[in-house]
Amino acid sequence: MIVKMKEIKYECELIRDLLPLYQDGVCSQSSQKAVEEHLKNCCNCAQMAERLKNYEVDEVLIKEKNNVLTTHEKKERRKTVTIGMITAGVLFVPVIVCLICNLAIGHALNWFFIVLASLILVASITVLPLVAERKKWIWTIFGFTCSLLFLLLTCCIYTGGSWFLVAAAGSILGLSVLLAPYVVGNIPLPRFLQNKKGLVVMIWDTVWIYLLIAACGIFVKGEYFYWHTGLCITTYCLWLPWFVFVVCRYFKMDKLIKSGLIVIAGGVYTAFTNDVICKVTGINQGGSIFDADMITGGTIDRLEALNGNILLTVLILSVLAGGILILAGLKKKS
Ligand SMILES: [Zn+2]
Repeated sequence: MIVKMKEIKYECELIRDLLPLYQDGVCSQSSQKAVEEHLKNCCNCAQMAERLKNYEVDEVLIKEKNNVLTTHEKKERRKTVTIGMITAGVLFVPVIVCLICNLAIGHALNWFFIVLASLILVASITVLPLVAERKKWIWTIFGFTCSLLFLLLTCCIYTGGSWFLVAAAGSILGLSVLLAPYVVGNIPLPRFLQNKKGLVVMIWDTVWIYLLIAACGIFVKGEYFYWHTGLCITTYCLWLPWFVFVVCRYFKMDKLIKSGLIVIAGGVYTAFTNDVICKVTGINQGGSIFDADMITGGTIDRLEALNGNILLTVLILSVLAGGILILAGLKKKS
């Protein structure tokens, strides 16, 4: 009996080895017969054969599905590229018309470049997303920024202006505040910067704020007073966004404590900004927190005391609110 069991097991093993060949129809006729004979009598091996068949069917189905998807994707892609090309062609018509008109009327090319730059700007947000294969929004943002700068440059040259740097730095700063988080999140960064994307965005925006101040300084041919006040006030104004960023990103503490710190920082910032600006510029424009007079009170006749009272109230309320948040955070922790 034991011998018989062993023999059966041995035969099953042989058959199971043969099953893949059998199902692919590549084993010899005698093996094929032996397998069929065995499957009729052995339900275990029959089940196994069934499973193998289903598995193969699944595999074939997955392959088919992937093929269909790839073909469909390719077809769609060809369609969008064609639409992109047609759009580019349509945009090209006014370029040619303006080229001829400018040459015929002005005997030179001048305003033509403004038309060209404008149409390139339009193409950057219509054609680029259609024809870019990967990372289309990154390419679109890049193309839009470059063509916007080109348009500003052509307008500046055409009008004989000297404002290009101011307009360029301002445009890049504005676009950066809006889009830098998305761009930095989607472009390949060196390994050491990969988990410092927030920091990269903050540094990038900060650099452009200073470049804008510099561009304005060059534009107005600013002297010591300009550079001194411009740089000091910009630096002062930047401490709050940097403080919020550092607290949110790097402080390892409860969210309530973080919120409390930010509320207090916001209050201090609001309360003392006027005083800092007065101190830096040397121009007293009122609104100092040190003019606050809570006892006799500010009135319409004593505007500086009224302003001071408002600032002092903001400071006290923010310290109170922030303090409550911090205490709540500390209590939650313990
Ligand atoms: Zn068997």
